[in-house]
This record gives sequence, structure tokens and C-alpha cells, in this order.
Amino acid sequence: MDEIILYANNNVVMRREDLIHPFISGNKYRKLKYNLQKAKALNKNTLLTFGGAYSNHIAATAYAGKSYGFKTIGIIRGEELKDKVESNPTLKFAKSCGMQFKFVTREAYRNKLENDFIENLKLEFGDFYLVPEGGTNQLAVKGCEEILNIDDECFDFICCCVGTGGTISGLINTSKPHQKILGFPALKGDFIREDIRKFAKKENWDLITDYHFGGYGKIKPELITFINDFKRKYNVLLDPVYTGKMMYGIFDLIEKQFFPEEAKILAIHTGGLQGIDGMNIKLKQKGWPQIE
Ligand SMILES: *Cc1c(COP(=O)(O)O)cnc(C)c1O
Repeated sequence: MDEIILYANNNVVMRREDLIHPFISGNKYRKLKYNLQKAKALNKNTLLTFGGAYSNHIAATAYAGKSYGFKTIGIIRGEELKDKVESNPTLKFAKSCGMQFKFVTREAYRNKLENDFIENLKLEFGDFYLVPEGGTNQLAVKGCEEILNIDDECFDFICCCVGTGGTISGLINTSKPHQKILGFPALKGDFIREDIRKFAKKENWDLITDYHFGGYGKIKPELITFINDFKRKYNVLLDPVYTGKMMYGIFDLIEKQFFPEEAKILAIHTGGLQGIDGMNIKLKQKGWPQIE
């Protein structure tokens, strides 16, 4: 996989998982891989999953379904989005891949894994293979265990973004004891540690919780500036929800001498670039600069 070397001391390397696939980007490809194999093995012809208005996972699942011959159903958080599909780049894309939507209230969405809710979905849509929100389950973690390879043993720190915790769990499981895996949560709250413990088989990890910029999908002008400067300097686009925040954090930690001087750092670019168009629409409404 392509990589680039960042930062003056050449000790930060970025792994370009965003280049794996143009539409099933980065970690979503890793997370879907074994789930799609399982769905095929079970003879399922429909994938059903969950996500918000700008979800990278919804976009990836829609495209994967189209490519590998599954019908796809997206349970989308927010009833009000029903009439906004055409003006939402993520949903418009998913629809163009054939995804069928069901828009639900935030309350219904919160209870989406309860038996009643799932049973009603089966009555409505027939049999399906359920892919959890964000795609995270045991098979997704297995896919993410393939991100690191043998040459990566030279790194002291491996940094990744954290949403539902599947990606970091996979990285932890293939890491070596001398390595430390640092997760940068894109959302507030500490509950994610528990979720990671469910899948991670080792203890050599930690979360850096200072760079969520106010919470999931929240953004500040300095983050936009950082993303645009990064693009100019390294010719790599970062997304505003995950990878932009992580890279901002890594550079800030380097400034603050968090890492030992000779430390070798691997940063995983998990993709997510499809979300930029949607974010730019919101930024425009606020009168803020665009992500270029
Ligand atoms: C979904 C996503 C994540 C979060 O991955 P988890 O496995 O849910 O923690 C990180 N980065 C990008 C770009 C994503 O799209």
C-alpha cells in the first residue's frame, strides 16, 4: 500500500488505506470483507445496516452491495432526512447504488438492536444479513487485523481514528508487545473503551481524547485550516470527521513532545473522503471556509 513520509524528522509515516478502493474506502473495506463472505456463505441476498446522514459506512455498504450482488437497505437516523436525499451527497450516492432507505426517529434508532425492532425489519424487508452500525463486529475486526504487516514492526506508535472501535481492535490484535496503539476518538465520551475491550486481545493501547473538536461531526475553523494546509503541503486530503482530527492531534502531540525523540510513528489514513462534500454544504451555510 502506498505510504507517505510526513514531518521534518521523517519519523511519521502515513499508511494510505484511503487508496484501497475509490468508494469502499479505507477501513470500511477491511470491515466489510469477511462480512460479505459470510453473507454469501449464508446465501443471503440482502445486506441491512445502519447509519447517519453522512455515514461513510452507509456509502461503502451501498457500493459494496452493488459490486458484489447484494440488495442493500440502510436504516438512517433522522426522519427529517426523508425529503432531503437529493441534497445529501452521501444518501444520494447510496441511492444511486440501489440502496433502499428506511428513515427512523432518533429514539427508534437508539433502540435499533432490540429484538422487536429487528423482527419488524424482517417483516418489512424479508431475510437479511445484518451489518452493525459502523460495520463493527468480530468479522470486521478480523478484516482490520490485516491492516498491519510484518514490516510494520519497526514502528513504536501506531495511530488511528476511533468511531465504533473495530479498526483499533484489529490493529491492537496484530501489534507487537513493544508497540503502542493510540486511538483518537472522533466523538466525546469514554464508553468506547469498553467496546474496544470486547474485541482487543491485548493491553498495549490507549485513547487520546483531546482532539474530538466538540464531538462527532463537529468542526472548528482551525481544523479546516489544518486540513487545507495539510493538503497543500503533502498532497493528501484528510476528512473532517476522523482523519483530520487525528492528524491534527498527532502533530500537536509532536509539538508538545509527547513522543520520545526517536519514536517512529505510523498513522493510518482510514479514508472517509466521501463525507467532505456533505461537510462543505454545512460549512457554506455557516459562512465558514470550504475544505478544498
Ligand atoms: C468509520 C471510520 C472510522 C472509525 O472506525 P471504527 O472502526 O468504527 O472505529 C475511522 N476513520 C474513518 C475515515 C471512518 O470512515
